[in-house]
Amino acid sequence: MPNYDAHVLSGVVSYPLAVALAGFLSSKGLPLELTTMAMIIGYALYVLGADLPDMDHPNALIHRGTKPIVSVLAGGATYINVAGRMNLGAEWLNTAAEWGIAVVVALIAWYAFTWLMPSHRGIVHSLLFAFIYGVLAFLLVEYGLDMSTGEGLYVGLVAFLGYTLHLVLDRSIKLV
Ligand SMILES: [Zn+2]
Repeated sequence: MPNYDAHVLSGVVSYPLAVALAGFLSSKGLPLELTTMAMIIGYALYVLGADLPDMDHPNALIHRGTKPIVSVLAGGATYINVAGRMNLGAEWLNTAAEWGIAVVVALIAWYAFTWLMPSHRGIVHSLLFAFIYGVLAFLLVEYGLDMSTGEGLYVGLVAFLGYTLHLVLDRSIKLV
């Protein structure tokens, strides 16, 4: 099983092949736009995709690195929802207590992230998830970053390819 470095570096160095494939498809009439910005965002999501499937392994760096982000986001979202609802007298006390509630949710999210993750090399290591990752990348570029549809399609394609590269190196290419 290739390790973290092998997965990430395979993404770092093989990107010109993904650019070549996308450029070829574009020359054949597919509506992909290889702008500089799309190619740079695509590079980031391609390399991320090359390691992302190991999210389903509790000891993998990507799993351990994502867990605090998920935990903090859950805590932050909770704070937004409870802010202004406590009344313990002093304003600072209310804010601290609201953060106390946020922290409980952050802690639950921390453990749930590992508990709820499908088992290693299960569905997360599948072409279905590669496709979902590509769609999310497309949505991020087209709607999140307000770039053109052609740029979104390019980034979505290379994100899918990066994720698929991981499956190829693992030699575990399944549809689901
Ligand atoms: Zn893997």
